[in-house]
Amino acid sequence: MIILVVVLALLLIFSRGFRAARRVNIDPQHDEQKLTAVTADNHPAAGFYHQDYVTAVNSTPDPQAASIAAEPGKNGVQAFNRQGSGSLPLNEDLDMEGNSMQPEDISKEMLLGRVNPASETEGFSLIESRYARRDGMYLRSEALDAFVKMYDAAEKDGIQLMVLSATRTFDHQRRIWENKWNGERMLHGNIRATDIRNPAERSREILRFSAMPGTSRHHWGTDVDLNSLQNSYFEQGQGKRVYQWLADNAAAYGFCQPYTAHGERRNGGYEEEKWHWSYKPIAVQFYHTFAEKISYEDIIGFDGAETARELQVIENYVLDVNRDCF
Ligand SMILES: [Zn+2]
Repeated sequence: MIILVVVLALLLIFSRGFRAARRVNIDPQHDEQKLTAVTADNHPAAGFYHQDYVTAVNSTPDPQAASIAAEPGKNGVQAFNRQGSGSLPLNEDLDMEGNSMQPEDISKEMLLGRVNPASETEGFSLIESRYARRDGMYLRSEALDAFVKMYDAAEKDGIQLMVLSATRTFDHQRRIWENKWNGERMLHGNIRATDIRNPAERSREILRFSAMPGTSRHHWGTDVDLNSLQNSYFEQGQGKRVYQWLADNAAAYGFCQPYTAHGERRNGGYEEEKWHWSYKPIAVQFYHTFAEKISYEDIIGFDGAETARELQVIENYVLDVNRDCF
């Protein structure tokens, strides 16, 4: 009897999902893939999630944006883009409208990480320890609210997210950079940066995974590193499920992955980072304001800073991100 009820409920969910899908012209193949994924997850909330997703898409005013938004994953961000940042998000619970920072609110100090997240007046909130690997990490309040909603939704789907790193100040990033620059911390593949004599080449090697102080998106209070700093973690087992969940769902909460694999959506810059996610409604404002206000005279105050201009770190690293993120 119970089995019969469950089967009938599933049939109902699926048929409603398909009807809704037809209304908004979801690519049937994508839709089917999503439903298959939902079934494979074997989680009751997943079916309802699909329904919510379609409903949210339906209420999107721009039909073109709606049909794009209906595709799974990162395309939601494109729809978000088309409507302009700060407008209706895909997830109806998320109140992003009108709260996002505007370019005139963003100072050079904020762009360069010369901030104090612990100060009560700078717009950051402390991340509760249950979301994070350690205490004392901060995000901008709106980004944290969105993250918490995403965290809860992931948890309902059996996916555990954990913040490894969030806002980092200029000084924090300088310690990371200089430890690598001076050979105190090894680079990936056990390379010691001090073995590289040419300063620009030394910077370039560190820049595969670490930003120069002043140029990190972690300064902005919008970006988080999640679960593992190894791409390999996200390529098998539970890590793969975590990544797939983020790829399918993060956009609905306003998050995008800035450092995707090199290819058509970005040219070069940092290597792929499957752990790094960015709260786009605010980050997109920082991105454009950075391009406008920051020059190489501002990238100073750390060992190796003189290589920033030669390597064109603003163009080649700060601004070369996945197109879904700007
Ligand atoms: Zn990161």
